[in-house]
Amino acid sequence: MTATAPHEKARGLKPSSPRPAKALCSECGLCDTYYIHYVKEACAFLNQQVAELEEEAHGRSRDLAKEDDWYFGVHQEMMMARKQEPIEGAQWTGIVSSLACEMLTQGLVEGVVCVQNTPEDRFQPMPVIARTPEEVLAARVNKPTLSPNLSVLEQVAKSGMKRLLVIGVGCQIQALRAVEKELGLEKLYVLGTPCVDNVTRSGLQKFLDTTSRSPETVVHYEFMQDFRVHFKHEDGSEETVPFFGLKTNQLKDVFAPSCMSCFDYVNSLSDLVVGYMGATFGWQWIVVRNDTGREMLDLVKDQLNVQPVISKGDRKAAVQQSIQAYDQAVTLPMWVAKLLGIVIDKFIGPKGLEYARFSIDSHFTRNYLYVKRNYPEKLAAHVPEFAKKIVSQYKLPKK
Ligand code: FAD
Ligand code: SF4
Repeated sequence: MTATAPHEKARGLKPSSPRPAKALCSECGLCDTYYIHYVKEACAFLNQQVAELEEEAHGRSRDLAKEDDWYFGVHQEMMMARKQEPIEGAQWTGIVSSLACEMLTQGLVEGVVCVQNTPEDRFQPMPVIARTPEEVLAARVNKPTLSPNLSVLEQVAKSGMKRLLVIGVGCQIQALRAVEKELGLEKLYVLGTPCVDNVTRSGLQKFLDTTSRSPETVVHYEFMQDFRVHFKHEDGSEETVPFFGLKTNQLKDVFAPSCMSCFDYVNSLSDLVVGYMGATFGWQWIVVRNDTGREMLDLVKDQLNVQPVISKGDRKAAVQQSIQAYDQAVTLPMWVAKLLGIVIDKFIGPKGLEYARFSIDSHFTRNYLYVKRNYPEKLAAHVPEFAKKIVSQYKLPKK
């Protein structure tokens, strides 16, 4: 007879109950399960432990003498890639979904934790354990809202599954890594995406209402490397809005407090990361963090066009200016915003890895100020050392 694990006696919280991380909760789903037993250590907002978990997942933590490590985390290799035959309706070309399908069909895993949407609302997340490629494909495209992906972990344990792939964003993956040893798995594979500026479902509505010409028909959007938000509508048409034209004064409070205090943009603890920010326009960005990540990527490499990453331009002056502009909630007239977007993109704009550094610097300086102003008692322990190094390159307002 096997002994009952300590967490099996715990009970997940009801949806309306307050969460241990209070306003900082990112609704990662851990507290919906009996793994709430470990929340004090596991929650990314109660216990920042990226370096320790990197050591366990990748065999080493970031080397603080290497600038690429501060920015992109532990990695063996980075590249740009896109599918030769993109998956219709995927967020980009569907590398994430293809990988998950291959892992299921080749028998590497028995299930995939991913997030579909509810039948009523294309943007309302519905985490599932997919057991077939069809169920994985039904989860393609971002649900650009906080999603309780880990809420299905108790079902994983009860199903008796031993080999699992989890797809998720940084805060979900930090909590997952912290409880990994309690899951009773033979092998866990982790496929991450970068993530920033996420919102609740109502926050998303406010963003769409203030930014798009037709909020109700948006099926997909992304903040892209050409300094514009690209919206795709139901009829296939595309709308673009320059970053500098966003109504910052109305949108300042739209991002979730968890995302305003997050420093794990690049999903440091996944085996393999698939995003776009370190790639040039139209390409996806892949970061192989360890041997497991390499094994995963090898499964789909023959379906991809691949090229080396590049880095061009100098982000620093633009970041320094964005710190003041954001702080003062500056919104430019649309014609100025469009012009500025074109000038920055075409003539002085950072490209490839330098664009990723631009985005990381802008978000980390903003988030550092947010934590300092709203949670000063947390600042020292919550901000990882690599993020402190990044932020220290800029002059921040004193208060
Ligand atoms: P697809 O094949 O379309 O698969 C998408 C996968 O994402 C699905 O498996 C689904 O389970 C999962 N997913 C969807 N919504 C969520 C969610 N809310 N939480 C967790 N998992 C989810 N990349 C960057 O480079 N920079 C960014 O700033 C950035 N921000 C992001 C913000 C969010 C909220 C999300 C979910 C992703 C973000 N990404 C970002 C990743 C990027 O948008 C793409 O998801 C990634 O490049 C994969 O594209 P794909 O076509 O291969 O994915
Ligand atoms: Fe719980 Fe996750 Fe919220 Fe932390 S972020 S309180 S672990 S649900």
